[in-house]
Amino acid sequence: MIGAIIGDIVGSRFEFNNTDNFDFELFTRECAYTDDTICTIAVADAAMKCVPYGKSLHHWCRQYPTPMGSYGCAFACWIASNNPRAYGSYGNGSAMRVAAIGWLFDTLEQVKEEAMMSAIPTHDHPEGIKGAVATASAIFLARTEGKEAMLEAMREYYPEWREPQLGKNPSDETCQGTMPIVFGIINKATSFEEAIRYAIAVGGDSDTIGAIVGGIAEAIWGVPEEMQAKALQYLPFEMAAVVNWLYRRKSLIEINYDNFPEYSPLNPIALSVAEGGAMGSPGNVKIVESDGTSYDFNLYNFHNETLKAICPSLIECLNGNPAIWKEVDLGAGNHLFIKEPYYKEFRRRLKVYGKVRPSWIYQNWMRIVHNMLSKSHL
Ligand SMILES: [Mg+2]
Repeated sequence: MIGAIIGDIVGSRFEFNNTDNFDFELFTRECAYTDDTICTIAVADAAMKCVPYGKSLHHWCRQYPTPMGSYGCAFACWIASNNPRAYGSYGNGSAMRVAAIGWLFDTLEQVKEEAMMSAIPTHDHPEGIKGAVATASAIFLARTEGKEAMLEAMREYYPEWREPQLGKNPSDETCQGTMPIVFGIINKATSFEEAIRYAIAVGGDSDTIGAIVGGIAEAIWGVPEEMQAKALQYLPFEMAAVVNWLYRRKSLIEINYDNFPEYSPLNPIALSVAEGGAMGSPGNVKIVESDGTSYDFNLYNFHNETLKAICPSLIECLNGNPAIWKEVDLGAGNHLFIKEPYYKEFRRRLKVYGKVRPSWIYQNWMRIVHNMLSKSHL
């Protein structure tokens, strides 16, 4: 997601003042975050907290009513309305805000579904939805299967790509006008920075092309640490907090025989265990501590005494669910235990989704627990 934010910030000063210079300075005092970053943060926040995307977009955009470059007219009306309705848009705004969805979900099906949900509060035209679904899917596929497999899949969405030519890209703020140049750039670039430079120097809707290209490029090449640090300096604290939260929750620390003394004893507020013979991976344990740090290991890799040292709470749960822990069935031999003070809130959040199956909870519990622990303000 930081890649999208970098593309937006770097492109911000060229949105209404295009350049065809490939060697421009990336970060200057004229740069700022724009609507693309605000909406990207709003979508990330919604996905992590399991609140509706429309509600989060409305909330965040009202918090930041006058970003550099301002909001598009129809979207500004949507923000101003107390009863906002989708307006059939196929603008590229649906594609520029979905980066986090490509990172937060574990299957392509989930990514597509969530991307669609993030588009429809405003961009409910088929091309608007397609732009969001293609962008989030591209990020997911790039990080799980690599650039070539991703590009091949993207031909299904946009068969014709435009070769990037400096200064030659027409101004076009639609999804169907933007995505062919995005994939032309990604196809040609060989690094994150090169992709960002093409995104800006081709001209057109610079900050938004920057955001879409940046989000996908990050999933292919990663983002140099210095660029991340520079971009974060442009963000208000509460936006940076959402960015940091997203990356922290993505890092699951794997406990093994070499590193367990460093982390022991783990002090979970929630943990899942897969019995022997459980569906998924038998013996797998996942742990979340109160600051959101998360761990992963297999209990069959350790002797009982070692397990006791690694995580006394796990032994308590395995030995019959003491009062302080509440059990939630995850189906097919998988169990979730949540510490009493957090259990009530977990149940409350689960209700938002209506009647859900244990297998759904199995897939989503960690995200919901992380959302509960998230410090930002929605
Ligand atoms: Mg913008």
